[in-house]
Amino acid sequence: MAARDFVPEARRHKVAPKRERVVPILDLLAIEHADAKIELNFGSEVELLISVMLSAQTTDVNVNRVTRTLFVKYRCPEDYLAVPIEELEQDIFQTGFFRQKAKSLRGSMAILVADYGGEVPGTMAELLTLPGVARKTANVVMAERGNAQGIVVDTHVRRLSQRLALTKQDDPVKIERDLVKLVARDRWAVFPHLLIWHGRRVCAARKPACERCVISELCPSSRLAASAITDSTPMEAVQA
Ligand code: SF4
Repeated sequence: MAARDFVPEARRHKVAPKRERVVPILDLLAIEHADAKIELNFGSEVELLISVMLSAQTTDVNVNRVTRTLFVKYRCPEDYLAVPIEELEQDIFQTGFFRQKAKSLRGSMAILVADYGGEVPGTMAELLTLPGVARKTANVVMAERGNAQGIVVDTHVRRLSQRLALTKQDDPVKIERDLVKLVARDRWAVFPHLLIWHGRRVCAARKPACERCVISELCPSSRLAASAITDSTPMEAVQA
């Protein structure tokens, strides 16, 4: 089933162009969600890579539940290659898509051992050669290293970027292309955390809590009455 498109919601209210709104949006969200950070638990770059690979199509809470015991049993990349694949599948079963994930994990760990001395490769291009590692996973790893090469686009970042009219795109790669042009590079790493936490706490897919949203005046999708927004918004009424 295709994911719901939130672009049409951004026609509710006229607001200033996105270039004028993006900095205040991020400033307000940074105050509101000062604790925003990655929610996966890991103790090394290898564990970070594995956690992000396991997080596809499931929640961070679920991944943390699985990795709590997984990382005790599997201490290094070689450990993932030392057991039958069926055993690894069983150990990650609860994250879903366990057969494909086990195959990708073993393929990636084999390359880490063979080509990178058991370490996670250092560049985006190298990360993208690992089986099962797409742009989102590579972006998370690079961002957590403090060397963001792009912006992570997950379901929350997609929804909020569309609702805030920061993009009209639907494809994550195209959304990222729009976002990196808008957001200052030194905020690429924190940007997704702020949107993800706002998405979880306030701007839910089905029922956004616009009445307690700190960026409602900057949001063309706000469900507050138009007068409530325009009365307090001195910005030029131009849709981005
Ligand atoms: S919760 Fe905030 S960001 Fe989400 S639609 Fe409402 S006003 Fe916009």
